[in-house]
Amino acid sequence: MISITLPDGSVRQYDKGITSMQIAQSISEGLARNVLAAEVNGQVWDASRPIEEDSTVKLLTWNDGNGKSTFWHSSAHLMAEALEALYPGTKFGIGPAIETGFYYDVDFGDRDFSSEEFKKIEDKMLELARQKSEYIRKPVSKADAVEYFTEKGDEYKLDLIKDLPDGSITFYTQGEFTDLCRGPHIPNTGFIKAVKLMSVAGAYWRGDESRKQLTRIYGVTFTKQSELTEYLHMLEEAKKRDHRKLGKELELFTFSEKVGMGLPLWLPKGTALRERLTNFLQKAQTKAGYEQVITPHIGHKNLYVTSGHYEKYGADSFQPIHTPQEGEEFLLKPMNCPHHCEIYKSKPRSYKDLPVRYAEFGTVYRYEQSGELHGLTRVRGFTQDDAHLFCRPDQVKEEFKKVIDLVLYVFGALGFEDYTAQVSLRDPENKTKYIGTDENWALAESAIKEAADEKGLRTVVELGEAAFYGPKLDFMVKDALGRKWQLGTIQVDYNLPERFELEYTGSDNQKHRPVMIHRAPFGSMERFVAVLIEHCGGNFPLWLSPEQYIILPISEKYEEYAKKLSDVLKDSDICGLIDFRDEKIGRKIRDAEVKKIPYMLIVGEKESAEGVVSVRKHGQGDLGSMSIEEFKQQITKEITV
Ligand SMILES: [Zn+2]
Ligand SMILES: [Zn+2]
Repeated sequence: MISITLPDGSVRQYDKGITSMQIAQSISEGLARNVLAAEVNGQVWDASRPIEEDSTVKLLTWNDGNGKSTFWHSSAHLMAEALEALYPGTKFGIGPAIETGFYYDVDFGDRDFSSEEFKKIEDKMLELARQKSEYIRKPVSKADAVEYFTEKGDEYKLDLIKDLPDGSITFYTQGEFTDLCRGPHIPNTGFIKAVKLMSVAGAYWRGDESRKQLTRIYGVTFTKQSELTEYLHMLEEAKKRDHRKLGKELELFTFSEKVGMGLPLWLPKGTALRERLTNFLQKAQTKAGYEQVITPHIGHKNLYVTSGHYEKYGADSFQPIHTPQEGEEFLLKPMNCPHHCEIYKSKPRSYKDLPVRYAEFGTVYRYEQSGELHGLTRVRGFTQDDAHLFCRPDQVKEEFKKVIDLVLYVFGALGFEDYTAQVSLRDPENKTKYIGTDENWALAESAIKEAADEKGLRTVVELGEAAFYGPKLDFMVKDALGRKWQLGTIQVDYNLPERFELEYTGSDNQKHRPVMIHRAPFGSMERFVAVLIEHCGGNFPLWLSPEQYIILPISEKYEEYAKKLSDVLKDSDICGLIDFRDEKIGRKIRDAEVKKIPYMLIVGEKESAEGVVSVRKHGQGDLGSMSIEEFKQQITKEITV
């Protein structure tokens, strides 16, 4: 018999050689119908693979990231089977799962291929799926593997086998199709109920431009037809909300090739939005005991040698700037932390001074390959809402709780209601790859877990996901379309205090190392604004709107009155504009709707005579007429966060 430990901590006894699928069946038939794969001692396995020793087992379903990726990777095999059936002689490269779906790189020989053939392939995949063919794992020797693919004439698989050590090679067969693969896969093709091929592109074999260009076919599959329908609807919505598209339409930001790729230029309206976010967070941080600091955009190379960033990223990042005379080298700042460490060191610290909390909206520069750049979400220069807390080990939990409060306050004000916290701890089996004492790790890890519990967060604990220098907590936020974004990171760090020899004098009069905590509720202003645009589809909360109202005079005659109203609102810090164009009022209203301006104030003969405004709200229509004081009260109430 062997002992199987399940995620809830319960331990069950089974015969040696039991499979995860059988374990699922012993728990419930319903569960077994949904099991796609299993994590056995932290490794993802086929649910049909026998377990020979005491193990921890987590059954994976569609709701687990690893369950989904196993499903999608298995779907790549199914697509390959369909392609081989439809186009005999097709050769296959690699077919991995990706964030949403999968692809397979294939060589059709001289055949032309276009997306017009997708439907035929989808139908074939569904036909093969209905056969419920099992994915059968078979270890093979290197010689047998080479023989199989030599006979088949697939030079790509032979190229892959070349790099594999003998004894590590496995084949998987479903139906008529056999692939070189280390797995794992879902139990059988019958789990795949809905198929959609998404796009086709060219891809060089092994990413090498000197080698043959293969055809990459992207697809996505689901366990239910309704999931596919929902997904396609979400994609349509996402296209409409794409921050690159809305950023242009709403005149928030732009890029210029002359300035450089990946370097955003914030337009006046985008700047107004960003400034409001900055002020909002700054105010909350001041209340929470943070002090604002400012540091330069470059730093001496030695600073990053000390911090370790140079050794780790130096060669792959922007290269040093040289001074013309002294021959000194400076780097564009990739991170604010080293600068803040030096601020901490600027005077002696006592245990009574801690915690010290330094905040900076610090702009950093990191080299990203041009192909990786994407709107505001992947850029080469961005501003972090950064802060570093220096505290005693016994203060870590309290500080963590305060940061969680701050992050939740930010989410609440911006309408992010669905989030989970991912707690990343060290791998208990492999403690040597982490720096810092056991005692400090234990303290910090339990501090994070307890802080998250006491704050009532929904948490997922990931072992082995901690950075080598400390455990962390990340917030995963679901946006209005159900897409997940990582926002808000809180990271404990034992490394930098060590490298910078940071100290404080304890109550025992001895020198001690403080613990450093990095945190950024937004992450970066650029990425956060991008997520926010897509989350609210450009309809920002009123307090953030770059233009909160627009006054629409019916004709030139009422411009003076409009200006008077605008002055009253400006005095109360309510921002907006007047549409002075010589256009019909219907046109002015339509244009304001397109720009998603929250309030429209229409003024004409009747309004100016009675000293009122006719108010329309974006998306709601006519609110009737009111005095400017009444309007001011209403909007002020709404703006107060
Ligand atoms: Zn595979
Ligand atoms: Zn930092």
